[in-house]
Amino acid sequence: MDSLRNWLANSGSTTGKVARRCAAFALAALIFLPAPALADDAPVRAQAVTAATRLCVQADAVLQLLPRIAWQLGGRRGRIDAEFALAMFHASLSVDDLADRYWQAMNRDARAAGDDQAHGIALIARIQTVLAKGDYAGGRALADELMQLAQASGNEELRADAEEYQGVFDRRRGNLDAALAHQSAALALRRKLGDTAGEATALTNLGTIARDQGDFARCLDYFLQALEIRERIDLRLDVAYRNVAMLYRELDDTQTTQRYFAKAVEAASRYAQPGYYASVQGAYAGFLNDAGNHAAALAAASEALAISEALDNRPSIGFEHLEAGRALLGLRRPDAAAPHFDAALAIGREIGQRELVARSELALAEIALAHNDLARAHGLLGEVSPLLNAAGLRPYLAQAYALRDHLAEAENDPATAHEFAHRHAGLHEELLGTRSSRLLTAIEVRQVREQSRQQLELARRTNELQAERLQLGSKERRYGIVAIAALVAILAVFAALLVRLRKLNRALAEHGEEVDRQRTALADANRRLESQARSLYQATIIDPLTGVHSRSYMLGELGSLLADCRRTQRNLTLLLIDFDNFKQVNDRYGHLAGDRVLVKAVRFIRDALEADCLLGRFGGEEFMVAFVGRDESASRRLAERIRRAVAENMAGVDPPATISIGAAMLRQMPTIDAIDLLIDAADRALYAAKQAGRNQVQGFPARLTSPAADLR
Ligand code: GH3
Ligand code: MG
Ligand code: MG
Repeated sequence: MDSLRNWLANSGSTTGKVARRCAAFALAALIFLPAPALADDAPVRAQAVTAATRLCVQADAVLQLLPRIAWQLGGRRGRIDAEFALAMFHASLSVDDLADRYWQAMNRDARAAGDDQAHGIALIARIQTVLAKGDYAGGRALADELMQLAQASGNEELRADAEEYQGVFDRRRGNLDAALAHQSAALALRRKLGDTAGEATALTNLGTIARDQGDFARCLDYFLQALEIRERIDLRLDVAYRNVAMLYRELDDTQTTQRYFAKAVEAASRYAQPGYYASVQGAYAGFLNDAGNHAAALAAASEALAISEALDNRPSIGFEHLEAGRALLGLRRPDAAAPHFDAALAIGREIGQRELVARSELALAEIALAHNDLARAHGLLGEVSPLLNAAGLRPYLAQAYALRDHLAEAENDPATAHEFAHRHAGLHEELLGTRSSRLLTAIEVRQVREQSRQQLELARRTNELQAERLQLGSKERRYGIVAIAALVAILAVFAALLVRLRKLNRALAEHGEEVDRQRTALADANRRLESQARSLYQATIIDPLTGVHSRSYMLGELGSLLADCRRTQRNLTLLLIDFDNFKQVNDRYGHLAGDRVLVKAVRFIRDALEADCLLGRFGGEEFMVAFVGRDESASRRLAERIRRAVAENMAGVDPPATISIGAAMLRQMPTIDAIDLLIDAADRALYAAKQAGRNQVQGFPARLTSPAADLR
């Protein structure tokens, strides 16, 4: 059923869509149905099953129309989907009869449509229903059909399913060798397909066969393997725990049995399938009866029986009747017990379950003996022994021998009584021996398993450690790489920064050099400019030929001196000098010789001057001398000294030269604002000197000097 659910969940095809549509339609239809009444006297789970059954029956009155509607919607495929949806609906509520109706219909349609997948699903679902019913012959036929389908379609999963079910039915009918072959094939296929759940089922089935064969060691091994898988994937743990519990029950290990049954009941309660719960409770009732706890056994058996009856699970009903009967017998209520054994016997015969028949007959024989109904006891015990022999149910056979001994005694047949007492003792001893050897084997198996579990655990821990170490190693490597990468990145950044810094420095240096160059150039330019300015200034203030002040400079200075002298009331004397007959010098000696005369004569004039005297060229061959703070006589003396210096020094020179001087003093002027008036006065005095014969000083009114007098 798990595979069915997976299939439904994973189906994204039209099949799935129509199925979901049908399921939705089904649920919608259910809303309008009257709620079924619940019976109060039955256990809760049984009540739920009954309620679900009624609900499904009521719902089905409406829902059965769905396949026809689906046929209209999607033809045969549509109908298969609808049948699947309805079958799942009923199956999910454990109403297997109704579900089976749709599984049958789906089986027919899928076969006709050649839909292997749907065909397989329907067959498996049908087989499970039939198995619950105890219809082993019908089930085997269906399993064979499944095998044909698997072979024809080459589907290995279906093949594994077919092997499994063929094995189950073979075992149920007592063909243990054939069952073993099928289950071994199923196990190999499941392992090949990696189907863990299927592997657990195959191991469980193999364990059951081993138990039937009396090979408890193998049985325990298989069951524990299955248990490991089931615990890992949480699959039908109830089955696993129940099987192990029942095994320990066979070994008389009450404590372990009790523990596993408790686990099985707890696990079964977690599943929504009441059938699982009933099955565990039924088996538990058997154990409780063996342990002598008949009251608890009766409760467990009654609950299981109510559920199984509601589910109409025939084999379960049979065994639960048997356990309910045994409990009542234990509680010393044989009359109440007898109908249960009758019912169990009837079902056992109906489904061909030898164990059920044999054990029911055994119990009924015991009751008959208790009632002294020797004929009935005789008949029942006569039937039961071959059955128990054939089924290999040796503990019950021992019980049967004991009853035969009692019966023979009651019938006053000591020889037969002795014979059966002997057989019973022998078998009992054998069973005890077998049981203790089984117990020993079980202990050995457990020990071996525990050792291998520990080894496995050790290997797992070693692997984990190895993995951790590897992980750590890879982490270290990763971190190392990261650290190196970070270092490289930092170095790269530093390198880039360094390169940039160097570039910047270079650029800065270049820039500095450029600035220096420019600064030097600027300084040079400044220097040049300065010298140019100086030259220019010199040019403006110095006469280039004679090296004395220029006319403009002299006029400026004279203006300042004039203002200064007016303010300080000091005298300012101005001498205007003109070379005598210079035209003739030029004419006679050339202009250059005239220049040389000017240069030479000016040198003598300068030498004759006092430190504070200003000397400048007024223009042409005219010069001026200015000085401050000298009175008329001092001024006159200085003027004469100048004239004389030229006259005397230039007398021997070729050509010789003399000068005439016109003087003017500030003191002589009434009011004077501009220097022009002083120059004018000096100019007039010079003119007078020329007129008077040249080579003389004029402008000082007191006395006239002649060159002759100077020379003296
Ligand atoms: P006087 O005695 O009346 O002054 O006669 P003079 O010939 O000197 O006449 P005047 O002063 O009027 O003429 C000046 C002459 O001096 C005219 C000009 O050719 C000459 N002269 C002026 N400046 C220079 C100069 O720088 N170099 C030369 N070689 N001759 C000059
Ligand atoms: Mg002149
Ligand atoms: Mg002149």
